[in-house]
Parts: sequence; structure tokens; C-alpha cells
Amino acid sequence: MMQQYLTLKADYPDKLLFYRMGDFYELFFDDAQQAAQLLRITLTHRGQSAGQPIPMAGIPFHAADQYLAKLVALGHSVAICEQVGTPGLSKGPMERKVARVVTPGTLTESTLLPDQENKTLLSLYSEDGKHWGVACLSLSAGSIRLLECDSGALAAHLSRFNAAEVLVNNRTWAQQSQITGSGKQCIERPAWHFDAGFAQTHLQAVLQAANLESLELNKAKLAVPAMGAALQYAKETHLSIDTFKHVSDVQVQHEHDFLVLDEAARRNLELTETLRGEPAPTLFSRVNRAGSGMGARRLRQWLLEPMRNIAAIEARQNKIQHLLATLGQAPEPACFGLVKTLRTMADIERISSRVAMQTAKPRDLLALRESLQALPHVAELINSFEGDEFNAAIQALQAPPELLAELMQALAENPPVLIRDGGVIADGYHAELDELRNIQTGSGQFLIELEKQERDATGIANLKVEFNRVHGFYIEVSSAQADKVPGHYIRRQTMKNAERYITEELKAFEEKALSAKDKALNLEKVIYENLMAWLGQFTPFLQRCARELSELDALAALAIVAFEANWVRPQLVPHALLNIQQGRHPVLEMQVEQFTPNDCALHPGKHMALITGPNMGGKSTYMRQTALIALLAHMGSYVPAASAQIGLLDRIFTRIGASDDLAGGRSTFMVEMTEAATIVRQATPHSLVIMDEIGRGTSTFDGLSLAWEIAKRLANTNKCLTLFATHYFEITALGNELDSVFNVHLSATEHQGKLVFLHRIEAGPASQSYGLQVAKLAGLPALVVKNAQKRLDQLEAEKRSMTAQVDLFDLPVETETEAPASTEHVNLILEKLSEIDPNELSPREALQLVFQLKGLQ
Ligand code: ADP
Repeated sequence: MMQQYLTLKADYPDKLLFYRMGDFYELFFDDAQQAAQLLRITLTHRGQSAGQPIPMAGIPFHAADQYLAKLVALGHSVAICEQVGTPGLSKGPMERKVARVVTPGTLTESTLLPDQENKTLLSLYSEDGKHWGVACLSLSAGSIRLLECDSGALAAHLSRFNAAEVLVNNRTWAQQSQITGSGKQCIERPAWHFDAGFAQTHLQAVLQAANLESLELNKAKLAVPAMGAALQYAKETHLSIDTFKHVSDVQVQHEHDFLVLDEAARRNLELTETLRGEPAPTLFSRVNRAGSGMGARRLRQWLLEPMRNIAAIEARQNKIQHLLATLGQAPEPACFGLVKTLRTMADIERISSRVAMQTAKPRDLLALRESLQALPHVAELINSFEGDEFNAAIQALQAPPELLAELMQALAENPPVLIRDGGVIADGYHAELDELRNIQTGSGQFLIELEKQERDATGIANLKVEFNRVHGFYIEVSSAQADKVPGHYIRRQTMKNAERYITEELKAFEEKALSAKDKALNLEKVIYENLMAWLGQFTPFLQRCARELSELDALAALAIVAFEANWVRPQLVPHALLNIQQGRHPVLEMQVEQFTPNDCALHPGKHMALITGPNMGGKSTYMRQTALIALLAHMGSYVPAASAQIGLLDRIFTRIGASDDLAGGRSTFMVEMTEAATIVRQATPHSLVIMDEIGRGTSTFDGLSLAWEIAKRLANTNKCLTLFATHYFEITALGNELDSVFNVHLSATEHQGKLVFLHRIEAGPASQSYGLQVAKLAGLPALVVKNAQKRLDQLEAEKRSMTAQVDLFDLPVETETEAPASTEHVNLILEKLSEIDPNELSPREALQLVFQLKGLQ
């Protein structure tokens, strides 16, 4: 048996092998040790190998799903090995085979997938380590996305696609591109998997199409080999590629189609996770009023893929507007009705994938049947919305009548969880099955008759004919009456007060009944498989229906949020600007009693706001709310403001907060500067940049100087729309120096010796640092605050005398385009140069000349 185990394990060295033994899956050696630790199960031993006991850990097969879910969530993959032989038929260990490989990126099981998010397999291919082809395969959604990008954007795509597993053709390059720090496992796959021809053959098999021209794969040439590796990997885990026929939605994406949000922005803006890693409160949890998991996933996708196409954004806005229009209606607005109905419906998207892969369970089909029955009601609700934008959806919800009819006839009223329990197929659907079932149910009548017949024949009044699982059918006679038993009774068992017998007639009946049961179960399995194969043809309908339902759900969620919190429809414009009146923070406005709205106006003439004010004054909130409003607008949502005009953005950059990247081994300051460097290198006039307290991670002068120069660079060179919060008051001088920069501050007043934050944005720089008052508010002992005040006065005095000696900001600063010298000086220098012949000069004279020229400056 160990030999068999080791042979099987050799094919899956990097996966945990679940080795089926009776009612358990057993793990051995390192796998056992790892699983014991990960799953907190007992580690035992069995037999010996090389004189050492073999570590073993087991889990009951009926609880396997729950352990698998845990392992997969932790990023591990599992190969599941089943017994395929018949017990007792072969010599040696029973035949076993790996029946399925479960990996985090290729899941389709409802028990292993989170309801509200998609988990995908990402494959990356590069020929130079700089430019990458990306293929994202989602088996549960039946989709493939392809694109090309540079190293710098890889991490952003990784998080946008919510990749659970990453395949690469070169691990070293992947490490250089900083995607390995994302906590995702990177699996290096052999070069031959990344082959364009091989990829196309695979794709043709999946799409059942000979011609792939319409997909425009040549627009993402590097992504094609990546797709090949993804399909190959999925084929290995699902053991066949024929099961992916539902993967029909193949799209080539372009980077400029989306507003790019990198990992830092996604994290800092708390889009789907709080900074502490919790699912709420986040922007997603705020807007997720969808009724179904499908709707929630769609919403999450919209949030992570904000669009850059005004027409597409407006199309979503229009639909939300129509849904919103129903929300004041009595008695129940159609929009609420829609979400309520969707809440009761099944996850058609995932079920359709499982139907196509022939792995749907009886309860899946039951849920599908009930959902199909609800479709006409959904269509009716949609019909009540104004506008012909919903026509396509109504059409997509028209289920082929034969589909529902078949499910109604074939499935039992309330089928069990597993097909092997029997009773899944309804009576009256299949004649042979009915007959086999009749033999079983008919047995009751036969036994009553037999009992009566035997009582009469033997004269034993309390004779009973019964059945139990161990002994099958038997005749029971009390011990006192045992001597009346006729000769053809064969004794089977002696009980305390009774004897049990069998007769030839009863034996024959038993065989018939039991084999009928087995036959019925087997037949039921075949009928079920045929039913699923037949259902497979409806996959395109189910996918389209699921897409429309999920979109309606997501739109309804956005409409409900807009209705309840008074959000407005923003106007999207192609130029670089943000003009938000009375904007609010979408998440915080729900949490504080009274949220103070604030305006924000940035445009090419005035594209940088320097924000100062006391700690806790509301600087971060203001900056984040601006970014979130811009993001909501790009996903087609309404926004929390009185009015908003939003220019199309190419990217939102954030540099917020100071956190050590311990896992990545980088200090706070290093993280800060790396993020700042990315921004300075990449921000364009169409980017929104949020800089919160840059320079905090180092000494005052270092930090101040860096913050100053970064602000200046963003204002002068990048010319991006920028919100720059700083605690260095010196930097506010930039507001006077540069036309494009202006100062705003968050105000606070002191009331009866206490500091009151107004959270209101006002023009101009803050006049005072409220650090000590905030410290007092926070509960530092009065003496500490008093002494700190003294020290502050002293420091300020020292600083004044120091700046008298060296004024830090009067130091000449090098600029890339040197400030033009006045024409007069230039002329003098040119004149001097024209007088000399360089060939005549000795090195010493040349040096003197340089000093002379310098003097003329
Ligand atoms: P800062 O970045 O200036 O230190 P924050 O933006 O973190 O300040 O805000 C501190 C707290 O003040 C927030 O947690 C919130 O409770 C409150 N706050 C901020 N802005 C507002 C506002 N506009 N209206 C109401 N409360 C606000």
C-alpha cells in the first residue's frame, strides 16, 4: 500500500495528497505533518519506513469539504485520491486513482468558494522580465481575460482579478516585479506550457470554434502563451479539458479601458478590505445592497474595474436613474422587489458552470428549477421600469420552456444532497426506474401476506416476518413456540427469547428486493448523468441570464444606496478636473452623527491643494472622500455630494499612512519613498494623487526637504490633480510660489479650553499647530503637556536663531531646467567665450577661465 501511495504522491510533489482508505482520507509523511498543523488534527503513526514510524493524519471523508475549504483558503492545493477498485476483487491494495486536484485558483464548488467574490487563476508570461502578458481564467464564472502590461502594473492586475494562484514562466522575473510579496503563491511552470500554438489549440477545444479571429488575440500577443499555461494547469487539476465548455467569455482588455488602481490605492482607500484586513466597513460593504452572491460579485468587479468610457458609464447611470425613479413608489417599489426576489434565487452563474462541468449536485438542480420558476416575476418587475435600456435583460430572462419542464418532471420534489442516496429522480419520469422502485415498495405488501400465510400454516399466532440491515429478512418465533416450527425453516440466529429463521421463499424474495434497490440506484445515477448532459446545451442561456441578473442586482444596490443616502448623478467630462460640491465620505457619513460636507475643486490651472490643519482635523477623510467619489463616478454609480463634475482619470495614486511592510522587509520610510517614487515617475495630468503626510518616516529636515521637493515636482512636472496633506507648515509657502498650488486648511476652534474640530475645509494655510491641545485631549497628564509647551517654545527660539544662520529654503535648489540667467549676464559670458581659442589654453588657464565665468554669473 505504501508503494502505491508513494507512486501516486510522486505525481503531486507540491500538493497535499488525500489518500482514501475506507471512510477516511489519510495523509502521510510531510503531508501529514503539514496537515496536522494547518488543520489542527491529530498526528499519529502507522508502520515504518527506513526504521522510522511513518507520520499519518486522517480526516473523515464526509467532512472532507470543510477541511478542503480551510486548506484552500490558506492557499494550499490538494490531490484527492479515491478507491476505484471493488473490495475483495483484486489481490494487494485496492486500486486507487487521483480523481480531482483542488487548487485555490481553479475552484467551482459552492462549498469551497466565497459567495461574494471570485477566485481566479492568473498566468503571467514575459520574454524580457519587463513586458508581460496576463491571462486570467475564472472557471467558476466561465471567463478568460487577456491583456499586456509593464512590470509596474502587474501587482495592480493581480489584485483587480483577485488571483488565488499565479503561474509564471520565470520566477526570478516575477520576484523582480514585486508580485511575489503579495502573499500569493507563484508557481513556475515549464516553458512548453507557454506556447502560443498550444494555447490556441486548447482554446479552440474549449470554445469549440475553429476560428479565433474575432477574439483579436493579436492585440495581446504575450497574453496568449500565458493563457496556454493557464488552460494546461486547469486541465491538469480537473483532469480533462472537455469539461471547460462553459468558458465562453473570452476578452482582450486594454490598460487604458480602466481607471487603474494599484494595490496601495486599493488598500489605502479600503475598497474591499479595511486596513486591518476586515471585510467591513469598506466601500464595498457600503454599497453592497445586492440580494444575491452574483450581484455582490458583479458590484465588486465594477468597483475594482472603474471604467474610462463616458458612454459606458452613462449607460449604467441611466439604468440606475430608472431604478431610482421607482423607489419613492408605494406600496413596494419594484427596485426593492427585485432585490428581494434575487435574494431567494440560486447562484445561476456558478450552477451553470457546474452543470457544464457535469459536477452539479441534486440540490443545485433543485435551486436552478426554483430560480427558473421565479424568472417571469423578475421580468415583470423589470418591465415596470421606464426606459428601453432593460429590453435586452427581459429577453435574456426568457427561459426555454423545455428546460423548466424537464427539471419539473425529472427531479423529485425534495431530492437528497447526494445522488448516491437515491430518490433524486421523480417517480413517473423513467419507466424502468419506476418498476425497480415498485419491487421495493411492493415488498411491504408481500411481507404482510407472507406473515399471514406462515401463521396459518404453522399455527404460531405471534410469528413475525421482519427485516434488519445486518441479517436481511427473517421469520421470528418466540422461544416458547420454537418447537412448532416446520422442518423447512432454517435457523439463522438465536435471541434471548426468540429464534430467527429463513426460508427458501424468503431468501429468493430478499435477493430480488435487494438487487432491485442496487439496480435502481445505479439506474438513477445514469439518468442523472444523462439529464446533466442534456442540460449542458442550455449553458449559454444560463450564463447570459446570470449575467443580466447579476447586473440588475448590482444596479439596484447602487440605486438603493443613492436613494437612501441622497447621492447624486455625477457628470463625467473628458478633461482633467474635479469639481465636487458638498462632498461627503461614503462610508464615514454613515458612522458619524453629523458629517460636515466639503467642496473640492481641482483643475489644470489650480491642480494642487496643500492641506494643513490639526491632527484629527479631517485631512485624511477629505482626501479619501475625494478619491472615493471619483472612483464611484467611474464605476457608473451616483456619488455622495450635492453635485459633482468628474473628469476622466487614468489612475488614482495614494500615499497614505505609515505602516511597516514587515513581510516585505521594508521600513516605514522605505515603503513611503517607494510609493512616492512610483507616483513621481508615473502620474500624468489625468491622474489623481493623494499624498498624506509624506516624509513622516524620517528626521524632520530630511522629511521636510523631501516632501517639499516631491510636492514641487508633482505641481510643476507631473501636473497631476493632487491633494497634498502635510504637517510641515513651511511647505505652505509653495502656495505663493507656484500658480498651480493653493492652500486649504481644516479648521478647529478652542472652546472653553478645549479644542473643537469643525472638519470644514477653508481657504489658506492653517495658522497654528494644535499638536499640544490634541495631546491634552487624548489624556496626557497636564504636567507633560505643560513641559512640552516649554520645550516647544525653546525649540522654536533655537530654530529662529538657526534659520538666521542657514535658511534651509534659501539654499539654491538644482532644477532640471536650470533657471535662466538674466540676458545681460549671458551676453557677458558669451562675449568672454568668443574672445578665447580653446586650443591655445593650458589646463591651468582653462580652470582660471571657469572661475572667471562663474564670477560673471
Ligand atoms: P486627520 O487626517 O486630519 O488626522 P482624519 O481625517 O483622520 O483627521 O479625521 C479624524 C476623525 O474626524 C474621523 O475619524 C472622523 O470621525 C472625524 N471627521 C473627519 N472629517 C469629518 C467630517 N467632514 N465630518 C464629520 N466628522 C469628520
